[in-house]
Amino acid sequence: MKIRIGNGYDIHRLVSDRPLILGGVHIEHHLGLLGHSDADALTHAIMDAMLGALSLGDIGLYFPPTDPQWAGADSLQLLTQVHHLIQEKGWQIGNVDSVIVAERPKLKPHIAAMRDRLAETLSLDADQVGVKATTNETLGPEGREEGIAVYAVALLTRD
Ligand code: MG
Repeated sequence: MKIRIGNGYDIHRLVSDRPLILGGVHIEHHLGLLGHSDADALTHAIMDAMLGALSLGDIGLYFPPTDPQWAGADSLQLLTQVHHLIQEKGWQIGNVDSVIVAERPKLKPHIAAMRDRLAETLSLDADQVGVKATTNETLGPEGREEGIAVYAVALLTRD
């Protein structure tokens, strides 16, 4: 069996009058993430990890923020497209893992929903999708609640 690993990172600015969507889950909060698509930083970081594992570039290459067709895009649909791309190349996902860095809101009550949504989208078991959250101890842009950052890794396998 062949294996490949990739990592992904994303950060989006927190602003008012935007929904907060992470892992396809709408989370109630007075601030949301700014971006061309739905700004789902968790899904974006996972997509970049999957692409990186096969050296296929990054999501900006496939879904450029200058392209109006991706305005307000549902990032889970973009994730499905990236999944199809790696499947077409003969690879499948072993597991993905991620860390969301956010001072607020408390994400613990939403972890299971995000994991389940991502697992369902990728046709994986829930235990193949790690979603974790941490604060930044009030340090840096995440700590000042200027944005939410996400780190992700993906392991791909091929028989
Ligand atoms: Mg992004």
